[in-house]
Amino acid sequence: KSVEEVDVAIIGAGPSGSIAASLLHAQGKRVLVLEKQHFPRFSIGESLLPCCMQVIAEANMLDAVNQAGFQYKNGAAFRCGDQYTTFDFEDKFSQGPGTTFQVERAKFDKLLADEATKQGVEIRYGQSVESVDLTNAPQLTVNREAGESYRVNAKFILDASGFGRVLPRLLELGKPSSLPTRTAVFNHIQDNITCSDFDRNKILISVHPQNQDIWYWLIPFSDGRCSIGVVAEPHLLGDLTANLDDVLLEMVSQEPGLKRLLANAELINECGILKGYSANVTTLANQKFALLGNAGEFLDPVFSSGVTIAMQSASLAAKALVKQLDGESINWQTEYAEPLMKGVDTFRTYVEAWYDCRFQEAIFYQQPDVTIKQMICSILAGYAWDQKNPFVSESKRRLNMVVELCRS
Ligand code: FAD
Repeated sequence: KSVEEVDVAIIGAGPSGSIAASLLHAQGKRVLVLEKQHFPRFSIGESLLPCCMQVIAEANMLDAVNQAGFQYKNGAAFRCGDQYTTFDFEDKFSQGPGTTFQVERAKFDKLLADEATKQGVEIRYGQSVESVDLTNAPQLTVNREAGESYRVNAKFILDASGFGRVLPRLLELGKPSSLPTRTAVFNHIQDNITCSDFDRNKILISVHPQNQDIWYWLIPFSDGRCSIGVVAEPHLLGDLTANLDDVLLEMVSQEPGLKRLLANAELINECGILKGYSANVTTLANQKFALLGNAGEFLDPVFSSGVTIAMQSASLAAKALVKQLDGESINWQTEYAEPLMKGVDTFRTYVEAWYDCRFQEAIFYQQPDVTIKQMICSILAGYAWDQKNPFVSESKRRLNMVVELCRS
């Protein structure tokens, strides 16, 4: 078997893999990205948060993303029964971009990967990482589609394999998520929306009128189509062994706001389903590997934080790794895992409070204090690492305070 030598082997060319590869290549590191599929390929996770634009800029990909014709996004709208509220991401507490895009991931992920390639990164498609040996220097075994395999020796491995979770599986790092198992059923639609009050520049999160555990996303694209999905614990979604189109349409018909908006919508693809996607790990990184994005922890889709966390992890890991490759000794816990988890834990506070409904109360509160709303808006815009925001630095206490305020 042939053996290749690189500085960093990256498993997966999704957003975290492409961004990490670009950042490392820019620092003169020899990077090889191994991607199992061929791009463009479908991925779920289509609504970005403004915070991730900073990382896209860091990787010198901002012009390409700005010019790709994606749907502009400036905020989030929430509806529950008669209650409707919007957050304008430009009106936020934290510094940084206030707008972003809603993207078909097939196109977006290919664009990032192609930009990395243009910058000089080598990405090999149709190559699946099958095993890892960390006894000495890290070594990967890679299968080509044709069947033969080869080895890659690297000084370090970045696992950016998303729900493939390659290293957590191979090294038995998996740990159950603290969140209950939920399921998402989704599709793309030709939306045919004519309602003048529909804001295509915002993701719409709707809550089921009778059961606040069930919520829907509606993510408009720039070409008259939308991504639609419903999320709930599986027993709340009806018969999931039945035709999934029927499951999705039935769930949509139970939410009067969506039913009205989507009266003339047509499903485009076969419905997709993802079950039990929340996951966690015992170790995020050590001297030989780091887990990026979804290969590490994945919380929940409700605040569209996945790609932002994935890119943030790529940026943090690349910085630490450049230092290590340049001979500095790195404490991966304090220089990578802990800073990354600060933001993830902020999102966790609000995700948990979304499902126990306290954060829903805060979101739909009709007389919000302007500054508090800006601070909450920052989190919804992805600035979950901004320690200057008290809703980040002491998220639980501030959230409790705001819920008290709504109830008083
Ligand atoms: P991915 O984008 O998943 O990329 C991983 C890549 O690794 C893939 O291309 C895969 O082919 C490759 N790979 C896997 N195994 C191997 C292997 N053995 N060898 C080589 N390559 C391999 N996030 C948002 O930001 N906004 C949203 O609106 C949003 N909605 C979501 C809705 C749902 C229902 C779910 C479940 C998630 C949602 N997310 C959303 C999260 C988002 O999908 C992910 O967080 C994001 O895709 C993570 O990026 P990544 O780079 O870590 O992995």
